Amino acid sequence: MPKNIKNKSKYYLELDKKWTAHNYKPIPVVIKKAKGTWVWDVNGKKYLDCLSAYSSQNFGHNNPKLVKALKKQANRVILTSRAFCNDVMGEAAKNLCELTNYEVFLPMNTGAEAVESALKIARKWGYDKKGVDENKAEIIVCENNFHGRTITIIGFSTDLDAFSGFGPKTPGFKVIPYGEAKALEKAINKNTVAFMFEPIQGEAGVLIPPEGYLKEVETICKKNNILTIADEIQTGLCRTGSLFASDHEGVKPDITLVAKAVGGGVFPVSGVLSSWDVMDVLTPGTHGSTWGGNSLGMAVLDAVCNLIREVDYSAISLELGKFFVDGLKRIQEKYPKKIKEVRGKGLLVAIELNDKARPYTEAMMDNSPIGLLAKETHEFSIRFAPPLVVTKSELTWALGVIERVFDEVN
Ligand SMILES: *Cc1c(COP(=O)(O)O)cnc(C)c1O
Repeated sequence: MPKNIKNKSKYYLELDKKWTAHNYKPIPVVIKKAKGTWVWDVNGKKYLDCLSAYSSQNFGHNNPKLVKALKKQANRVILTSRAFCNDVMGEAAKNLCELTNYEVFLPMNTGAEAVESALKIARKWGYDKKGVDENKAEIIVCENNFHGRTITIIGFSTDLDAFSGFGPKTPGFKVIPYGEAKALEKAINKNTVAFMFEPIQGEAGVLIPPEGYLKEVETICKKNNILTIADEIQTGLCRTGSLFASDHEGVKPDITLVAKAVGGGVFPVSGVLSSWDVMDVLTPGTHGSTWGGNSLGMAVLDAVCNLIREVDYSAISLELGKFFVDGLKRIQEKYPKKIKEVRGKGLLVAIELNDKARPYTEAMMDNSPIGLLAKETHEFSIRFAPPLVVTKSELTWALGVIERVFDEVN
């Protein structure tokens, strides 16, 4: 940065605008430092982070145990590729599988890669094990889904911004309404190999399906010999008050996808959890990733699993989530014209407005002397998902800011 810059935020915002693609519309805050639930901008202003990098920061920014594991491993070996083996991957995979009660882990790096991997596994399972005719496999997904940004994944998105202009779509997918078990039953045919769903739709605005839906889905899929693929990339790792959101209904999907918080917010780690009966369709040469299973990410994964064993983050998320939702509902009672709905599970919470949400999120950011960072999803909703290390008093403060903003905006 040149000397004598008065408005540092403006300087960086302009740099971003000139030198990086405009595929986001960020809240105009430029963050320089972070710790736990708090972040600081380039001008030194402090903010409570109520987004947690889309639930990647479940254990708090720069969690000391995770940073320690990262640094320790960085001094040893970082990346060898899977052409060789390393002394971290197996230990970490064992730790994660034992924690989640799955038999086997396929390590990848980003959420979209985990999703793509699961789609490949499901198709191959369909051909190798279910006996579906070659190139006929169908996978069922839900309206308003968010599973990532690759060309195949956006092909079955129902969000116009996500898919339009990027055709042609990858064939082999069928889209049904979310939360309707009957629609799933109707969509199944002899070529169906899998049903992929989010147990709670995060990007769609924290949409929670009717109670019993996941259990019904499980029963229908078992009956029809179809794999259940739960995308727990945003909902997993204690975010909703249980290790996985599927656990709320006692559902054990054939495949569970993890990313975001599984890398502890310090390194990109993702992957596919399943049984050997499903995973063994992958054989040498059929799938891979240069960085998947790298020593650095796997050291972080191992440390993340240990954190979850040490602290009952699910209980914290459940208790604080209820406290926070109750507080938001009190604000809704005060401003019923502005707030249409408050919904959430654990600390994955959203409010749906009757107005556009952006002026409210910007007013929260602008709160003085300490700001609050939250992000609107789909124009009318605001998601609140603070790190699970947030305290009750921090949430009480946040509720005060939110109430003031609803009092002041408009
Ligand atoms: C974020 C997210 C993804 C995609 O993860 P990336 O790491 O951004 O590719 C997929 N599914 C869900 C539910 C997500 O929230």
